[in-house]
Parts: sequence; C-alpha cells; structure tokens
Amino acid sequence: MEESDLSKIVLVVDDEEDVEFLFRQKFRKEIRSDLIVFHFSRSAESALKYLQELPDPSLVLILSDINMPGMNGLELLKIIKSNFHQIKVFMITAYEDEENHQTAISYGADDYIHKPINFNQLKEKVLRCIET
Ligand SMILES: [Mg+2]
Repeated sequence: MEESDLSKIVLVVDDEEDVEFLFRQKFRKEIRSDLIVFHFSRSAESALKYLQELPDPSLVLILSDINMPGMNGLELLKIIKSNFHQIKVFMITAYEDEENHQTAISYGADDYIHKPINFNQLKEKVLRCIET
C-alpha cells in the first residue's frame, strides 16, 4: 500500500492563532509524507460546518480546545459524540478544572490533554489513533 493511501484527516479546533503554526511545525514529517492531513478550525461552529460538508469519512480524530468564544469545546464534544460515533475526540485545555474533566469524560472524550502540549506524547497518541 502507498503511504498516501493511509492519509487521514485530523481536525484541530482552537481559537488561538498560533496553534496551526505549532502543529504544522511539530507534525512536519507526518504532513510531508501525507500520513496526516490537518484541518484547522478557529471555533466549534466552523468545525461543525466543516464536518457537515466533509464528503470523505477519513476524518478519524478531532483535537479540541475547551475554552473558546461561542460554543465551547465540551458542547462540541457532546454534539460530535452523538452524531459521529466513529470519530475520536481529544480535549485540550490550559486550565486545571476537575468539573470540565468530569464533563469531558461523561460526554465520551477519548483523551484529556493539558497545555502546554507535550507533542512527543501527543504524536504517539495521534499515530496510534490513525493506525487503527
Ligand atoms: Mg481557547
């Protein structure tokens, strides 16, 4: 199988502008080899719009910030888990908040990651997700 056949879409949802730059830098190798195609949304609303318009079911993973203007990441998680069962969702947050953590678990989050992101660890988790 060609490596490009394995290309999977990972959707990153975060209102912070530098996040896209950071991911493109940290996953440079995976992007260049077509192993992962990243898509970036700056709000939960635009992430949902992207999901609804996506013709291809190869989106396997969403990495979402929790605190965002408008719909927050937990509400987004709830909608995704009730409409797109096959998609895994990792929540990412800069805040220590036990209530958010519990809510994320009860809504079915597949992981809960703290900022600053440990990209070595995240990469392992993302690749594991994509390979299965
Ligand atoms: Mg934020």
